[in-house]
Amino acid sequence: MYLAVYGYPAAINVDPVEKKPLFHFLPGELILSLGTVGCNFFCAFCQNWDISQWRQIEVTEDGKVTGVRGVYVPPEGIVALAKRYNSRLIAYTYNEPTVWVEYAYDIAKLAVQEGMRNVFVSSGFETHHLWNLMGDYLHAINVDLKSFSDKFYKEICGTRLKPVLENIEFLGTKMKDKIWMEITTLIIDGYNDSEEELREIARFIASINKDIPWHITAAHPDYKMTDIKHTPHKTLLRAYEIGKEEGLNYVYVGNVSDPKHSSTYCPNCGELLIWRDWYRVLELWKERGKCHRCGTQIPGIWQ
Ligand SMILES: [Zn+2]
Repeated sequence: MYLAVYGYPAAINVDPVEKKPLFHFLPGELILSLGTVGCNFFCAFCQNWDISQWRQIEVTEDGKVTGVRGVYVPPEGIVALAKRYNSRLIAYTYNEPTVWVEYAYDIAKLAVQEGMRNVFVSSGFETHHLWNLMGDYLHAINVDLKSFSDKFYKEICGTRLKPVLENIEFLGTKMKDKIWMEITTLIIDGYNDSEEELREIARFIASINKDIPWHITAAHPDYKMTDIKHTPHKTLLRAYEIGKEEGLNYVYVGNVSDPKHSSTYCPNCGELLIWRDWYRVLELWKERGKCHRCGTQIPGIWQ
């Protein structure tokens, strides 16, 4: 077996790290972001479906691979690109990075040698073998928790819920000091937005650690779900309140302009510490990682 998409990113961009989304990880920095075609999930609402659900790869009789998108960029080329764009961060994103981990691993290893840091944006379906391989080279991860219903995972994503919960728990406990984790739930109108389900998600995250940031992001009609509504703003605000009620210290709405609900406040005294509007950032604290009013340490990687 070998990886057909090795060296073939289907998308490369330089983004603010807030777009991953990561809000407690080197705010305001640029991150070189790449993904290939393919995925182990089949989410009917996928917002990157044109690359993730690409199914044109074939192997001809004489062993040639056809249908791979992108131009060849070896791992050292990706690290060189990051340097050229003054980025010391690389994100493995757009499609599920674990399906192209052989490529991601080679890039990540080189990046670490150059003093850079690596970020996975993942649907959380990894095996322990993956963590053993990548654990030393990853610095942050954003994991999707798409729903709290196994039915949703089965019918809409073609997978299962339990391994995702197990991975989030593993990352939030055993890997806590190694890989910084934030969690994202894309809210789909009428599918995963019930009071009960949002509360179950928030409660689950809080049971692991109340300091894990929870991003509640707005969906738009896409791929096979062109009949859904854009997530109503009031649903995002309700999820935000639920997150707070369940004790989460850092809840953020995303994919919309709402500075009030996408900024970071001190959980102890309520002081505004980082102001955000979409991906624009204004840091208000005097010392990164510390509330300037009461001195409370804010969890995250700040330098
Ligand atoms: Zn404070």
